[in-house]
Amino acid sequence: MEERGNISIHTENIFPIIKKFLYSDHEIFLRELVSNAVDATQKMKRLSSIGEYKGDLGELKVTVKVDKDAKTITISDNGIGMTAEEIKKYINQIAFSGATEFVERYKDASADKDQIIGQFGLGFYSAFMVAERVEIVTKSYQEGAAPARWECDGSTEFTITTAERAERGTDVILHIAQDSEEFLEVARIRTILDKYCKFLPVPVEFEGDTINNPNPIWTKQPSELTDEDYKNFYKELYPFSEAPLFWIHLNVDYPFNLTGILYFPKLKNDFEIQRNKIQLYSRQVFITDEVKDVVPEFLMLLHGVIDSPDIPLNVSRSFLQADSNVKKINTYITKKVADKLNDIFKKDRPTFETNWEDINVFIKYGMLSDDKFYEKAKDFVLVQNTEGKYYTLEEYKEFTQANQTDKNGQLVMLYTTDADKQHAFVEAAQNRSYDVLKLDSIIDSHFIGMLEQKLEKTSLKRVDSETIGKLIEKDEAKDSVLNDTEKEDLKKIYEAAINNQNMQVEVAPMAPDDAPVIITLPEFMRRMKDMSKTGGGGMMFMGNMPDTYNVTINANHSINQRILKAKDDNKERIARQAFDLALLSQNMLSGSALTAFVKRSVDLIGKE
Ligand code: ADP
Repeated sequence: MEERGNISIHTENIFPIIKKFLYSDHEIFLRELVSNAVDATQKMKRLSSIGEYKGDLGELKVTVKVDKDAKTITISDNGIGMTAEEIKKYINQIAFSGATEFVERYKDASADKDQIIGQFGLGFYSAFMVAERVEIVTKSYQEGAAPARWECDGSTEFTITTAERAERGTDVILHIAQDSEEFLEVARIRTILDKYCKFLPVPVEFEGDTINNPNPIWTKQPSELTDEDYKNFYKELYPFSEAPLFWIHLNVDYPFNLTGILYFPKLKNDFEIQRNKIQLYSRQVFITDEVKDVVPEFLMLLHGVIDSPDIPLNVSRSFLQADSNVKKINTYITKKVADKLNDIFKKDRPTFETNWEDINVFIKYGMLSDDKFYEKAKDFVLVQNTEGKYYTLEEYKEFTQANQTDKNGQLVMLYTTDADKQHAFVEAAQNRSYDVLKLDSIIDSHFIGMLEQKLEKTSLKRVDSETIGKLIEKDEAKDSVLNDTEKEDLKKIYEAAINNQNMQVEVAPMAPDDAPVIITLPEFMRRMKDMSKTGGGGMMFMGNMPDTYNVTINANHSINQRILKAKDDNKERIARQAFDLALLSQNMLSGSALTAFVKRSVDLIGKE
């Protein structure tokens, strides 16, 4: 038998278009053909399980062979095969219309070409991206079916002839075009198989090895799996990563189908480079590791796999965003992650606290970007004080309320961004039995802003933003040993000694054992500057503005009383020395000012 025919009802030849437009992603031909071969074996399994096929299934598998001399790549399976009639129907009509549809869509959506290329399953005809001629030699599982050979040279003409083939199944033989000979390299093919076929459900053999794991754990029930299984799978996915902290096994079949495992990696502080670690599969076929719209932004730092046949992979990005399944999946994942975190928090708080350093970024980022997540996470988000103790927001409120509520009934939470640099202030707060939180991760400045918005009658102040008496203002008697004229004199002496317009001098009564001079940068000022640094809207000019510090002179400190009594030429010297000490305690003294300070100190020590 020999039959010739025309594939196309159009006169236009689509192959050059396929070839030209898919340039960047030629390698997906292998994904498409191996997936087809896997599908054919799966169909065989189904026919056998429903009793349609009574014969021996044999060991179902797919084999990929490269023959560099013959310049061919052959994809073989022992699946259902095709009769000549089926080839005409499935390859000449259905597969072809799929390819035609691709070209049509590709032409329309000019803006989103990359998306379409990456995500459109072009199917069988993607073979022509790399082959100048394609043969199919196939024998259907049906009893008495004659083997058939289909051949096509990339034009719209094909031939079907009778073939020699004893066994059920299909060989797809690609005669590789000259400009695609890179695909005749074994190493290249192995890399492609490794990328797209690693978890296909049927063994895929290449060069004598089975290159895939046909039963990845996400397809199993959580009850069948041990912690070891989850950890080993993580190692399989990311051989060079540290063990994950914990994981979530996703498993839904209504209203959409989705399985997968999401891991919380050890983050430390380098979370920027960890993106794109979630792999998206459709029925165990790798699709992409760009999961932007499927996974909420704040969870992009998670690792793992998501497998869903319900994610429309053949449409452009804008479709994906509008797709209602994708939205539901997104919401579902957020909820599952929150539930899991809550679960660990409730059942095993020590583990939760141990991992806080790694997970706090996810949680805070999630609370900032998603109100629903905030509602769940507000009960388990933790804050840590300088003593290393962890509290939930509710616990912390209770812990600090009695001592840290100011005269207006406002609870003031104190925090430090650097317990070392701000040590003097932390100590001053602790001397008053105030508690100080450590809020020092990159995301904390946003987190602080959010807490102030969400928590009622609560404000957060950095320990060094005011003198301790002003941080939490209470109705306490503030007796000053100096009268108003003396205070005014002291202010003038200091202003002259400091001689800097960006230092706002004020004399105020404090405890005698507080420091003689305290330099602070108001909370408001600092936040503005922080915002302009991180690109906050419209604040760019702040970056160039000098800091305006408050310099508070402790009217009750003995040194300051002494200054008033000192000889005229000594007044400014002592004042400058006290001011420099305040600068020094905050790491603000450097350069010529530091040299002058050292010199002055040496002189003072030398004096009798
Ligand atoms: P899709 O796989 O999306 O249906 P394809 O263009 O990849 O589109 O394939 C078209 C059809 O050709 C398949 O649906 C299937 O019926 C048939 N086919 C392709 N490859 C094989 C194969 N290896 N064994 C049996 N049938 C196949």
